[in-house]
Amino acid sequence: MIANLTRRRLQAGWWLVLVAAVSARAGEPRLTRLSEHLAVFHGPVNTGIVLDADRALLIDCGDGRVADSLQALGVARVVSLAFTHYHRDQLCGAGRFAADGARVLVPAREREWFDHPERFWNDPRQRWHNYAFRPSRLMPIEPLSADDTLADGQTLDFGPARITVLDTPGHTDGSISLQVRVDGRTTIFCGDAIFDAGRVWDLHSLQKGFSRGERTIYDYHGFMGARWMLAGSLRRIRDAGADLLVPSHGRVMTDPRQAIDLLLERLEACYDRYVAVSALRHYFPELFTEYVGRPGHTAIRPGMPAPDFLRHFDTTWVILSRDRAALVMDCRNEGVIQAVRDLLARGEATSIDALWITHYHDDHVDAIPDFLATFGCPCLTERSVAQVVGRPLAWGLPCMSPAVIRVDRPATDGQSWTWREFRLTAYHLPGQTEYHAGLFVEGRGLRMLFAGDSFTPAGIDDYCMHNRNLLGRDAGFDRCLALVERLAPTHIFNCHVDQAFSFTADELAFMRANLAERERIFGQILPWEHANFGLDAHWLRCDPYEQTAPAGHRVPLEVVIANHAREHRSAAARPAPPTAWRRAAGHSDATADETALGPWRGITVPAGGEGRIALELDIPGDLPPGRYPVAVDVKFGERELPQWSAAIVEVASRPAP
Ligand SMILES: [Zn+2]
Ligand SMILES: [Zn+2]
Repeated sequence: MIANLTRRRLQAGWWLVLVAAVSARAGEPRLTRLSEHLAVFHGPVNTGIVLDADRALLIDCGDGRVADSLQALGVARVVSLAFTHYHRDQLCGAGRFAADGARVLVPAREREWFDHPERFWNDPRQRWHNYAFRPSRLMPIEPLSADDTLADGQTLDFGPARITVLDTPGHTDGSISLQVRVDGRTTIFCGDAIFDAGRVWDLHSLQKGFSRGERTIYDYHGFMGARWMLAGSLRRIRDAGADLLVPSHGRVMTDPRQAIDLLLERLEACYDRYVAVSALRHYFPELFTEYVGRPGHTAIRPGMPAPDFLRHFDTTWVILSRDRAALVMDCRNEGVIQAVRDLLARGEATSIDALWITHYHDDHVDAIPDFLATFGCPCLTERSVAQVVGRPLAWGLPCMSPAVIRVDRPATDGQSWTWREFRLTAYHLPGQTEYHAGLFVEGRGLRMLFAGDSFTPAGIDDYCMHNRNLLGRDAGFDRCLALVERLAPTHIFNCHVDQAFSFTADELAFMRANLAERERIFGQILPWEHANFGLDAHWLRCDPYEQTAPAGHRVPLEVVIANHAREHRSAAARPAPPTAWRRAAGHSDATADETALGPWRGITVPAGGEGRIALELDIPGDLPPGRYPVAVDVKFGERELPQWSAAIVEVASRPAP
């Protein structure tokens, strides 16, 4: 048995070496001939090519460039396309094959997102007040109608190959793997379940809610919440006993067992380091019982009473000065406005001097326009928050409110001023979200840090990767913790926690060390130049995310690129509008003609900095009114990322007057 396995492995290795030597050209996609009837095209995603004389079945197809290499394999016709999952980087080039009559086979549990992606793009729940991240933003921008579905255990024969479907959810809820037995070997095409030995393509796809006992939490609270699901799928793939494992993104693995076991181990280690200092243990202790008392996990701090000149209701803190002026922070709903009215009615407050915004989340800002209209006070916050709440349509972040809020004085990081008997200082506090403000209040013998939602007595609030919690020295929570070390507040306040709390110097140092350790081990599990590329769901984004314009107009679209690498990187982008848009623009062969897409524009993005590529979208004059997702193709360093980001253009029915 061992001898047999070894021989088969050697054979596999022989094919890989031979083909790589023949076909690899620097920087170009290449073809690996795995055996007589099986090949892999290495484009932006790996495409499996199952061969039967001059016919082929493709497993995923990426941007469609695989078409150019089929002739070399003697393929005259692609008869079927089988997809591992619905993400648009897997399938954005499928149109040309479908137009030529290829049958489209899709995971049974994801059919809706092939047939009706418009249900996602048109759903206001995917836009505002969104705490659920399934399906994902990598939704196709246009339908690819399925001819049939692929369900667990199903088999199909294609020429000499037998293909078996394995349910392997995790990267997406309905992801499948395709086990191909041909030429005496078994190869599993596993989508994005694994990248290569011990690594996954990204972690933010695993941001999913889960249930434990009675308790179910939202995707929003589920940092790596799909890891159980993924681990089950990985074991399934491992136990299916393949000779080769081919991921969508990543390298062909010749030792699937070792590759998977290392990934399982690393997923556990990463999650353990997350739980060790997680603020979520304060809100949902029952989810983390098995971690209590583990070495390297911080204890949950006791709270302390808030000073008597503060009031707390809902997510709002109010500071009352000696002369009974009030500074109010955040306003979620009418109940908060009423509570402030009551303060005035009871005479506890005699004036409302200002409203301060801690961060952009809907449960902190929804009723701010009403609050400002009711009390007529100025609205203050720090600049990172002001840019989001001032134009929410331009942002596609979680937990967004459609409320548009005009900030009267967006403060700079570190700007101080005096209010009544207090000294106030505004800080950029990239904790719970990148767009978060801290208000440091000194007075009455206290040093109080109003930190929004960024800390609880259990630690740091980084349980939602879509909020953009960056790792690295002086980024994200490391920056926040360094600030807390420097300010040494006597009291820290969280909007959702009644009591005040603080951290000792040792605890702060411990949390910073944890983050440094995470930067290292998350860096190992992810194949990118820095862990942040696989954690930050918005490192590439469109600005504005959404805009409205009449048909026939030209609108600007910027692609904003956060370069988390330690060196500068070249980047380029071009718009990739949907086929209907390209047809309306007069491109008859809209499925395969590259010129139907806009021109590439390039920039260099400094290390650790942000770059903006300015694109223009020409809305065809004949385009029917409607809501159009427009993707952008991106090149970043050596990576080609087709349709990696997307924006929404609401095409208005009539030209604006
Ligand atoms: Zn994917
Ligand atoms: Zn929040």
